[in-house]
Amino acid sequence: KAAGRNRFSYFTPALQEAAQWRAQLTRDMRLALVEQQFRVVYQPIVTLATGVIHKAEALLRWQHPTRGLINPGEFIPVAESSGLIGALGEWVFQQAADQVQAWRASLHPDFQISINKSPVQFENPDPLATPWIEQLRARGLGGDSIVVEITEGLLLSTSAGVTEQLLAMGDDGIQVSLDDFGTGYSSLAYLQKFHIDVIKIDQSFVRQLAPQSTNLALCQGIIAMAHALGIQVVAEGIETEQQRALLAAAGCDFGQGYFFSRPVSAAEFEQICGQIHVHPPTVNA
Ligand code: C2E
Ligand code: MG
Ligand code: MG
Ligand code: MG
Repeated sequence: KAAGRNRFSYFTPALQEAAQWRAQLTRDMRLALVEQQFRVVYQPIVTLATGVIHKAEALLRWQHPTRGLINPGEFIPVAESSGLIGALGEWVFQQAADQVQAWRASLHPDFQISINKSPVQFENPDPLATPWIEQLRARGLGGDSIVVEITEGLLLSTSAGVTEQLLAMGDDGIQVSLDDFGTGYSSLAYLQKFHIDVIKIDQSFVRQLAPQSTNLALCQGIIAMAHALGIQVVAEGIETEQQRALLAAAGCDFGQGYFFSRPVSAAEFEQICGQIHVHPPTVNA
């Protein structure tokens, strides 16, 4: 009993602090949207066979006036639990849609931008929001200009609305990408049931990639399985040339990671886009 009381009194201030921190972030976030403290950065997704870039992932950043730069790992959960994720997600979409419209004209006619969409956005859709496909068409774009990244947890949702929304995206030509693949619970059956177009192998598998490693065998297995189902594969978190080479040799379609570039501003993205060009091995030499 004494130990329990000690534990209780030890944890209470920490819990209180965490709750206060979340409450403060929630208040600050409402203002942040109005005062434009959020910005979107873009990380290249490289075609491994050619080194060409015509895809990017949009990632949210919060430049807080007093706390400095806050990463999404910290504020997205707060946005989800406070109901602000809807407005925030809609804002990110609009930024990304404007950007893909510009980059289709200036960089590549098939340019695609991936957007992360939280399970909460699927569970509580805003009935008054203009559907994404309509917002794309208003910019002269088709559904194929964006990719929606979801996490495995969403596929476990039993809500009929979620299934409907996922399948409707497919009808609109919007691709669905399964993020952080391998860390959750999705089964092979889910990949087909929800018409998944792309899977992103989680960074944890890429980090310890070495010749003859278990992780290489896992990546090779995931790639073979995905391709047999007509699904494309992105490897996340590539930081070294060896990881890039092993994944390219394993037939992985796309790569993303600090080896190519960190997430950068749109202006920086345009600068580096022509520069990162990792040549494939010469076949006819
Ligand atoms: P994610 O979608 O899996 O995004 C990839 C994360 O890995 C990003 O972190 C990216 O900066 C980081 N990363 C990329 N390459 C490397 C690498 O080579 N090494 C390492 N160590 N990390 C790398 P970030 O930007 O902090 O985002 C974290 C998570 O926050 C995202 O994971 C995503 O789940 C969520 N998120 C970010 N932006 C949004 C958004 O607009 N909406 C929603 N709902 N979630 C978002
Ligand atoms: Mg993602
Ligand atoms: Mg599909
Ligand atoms: Mg990921």
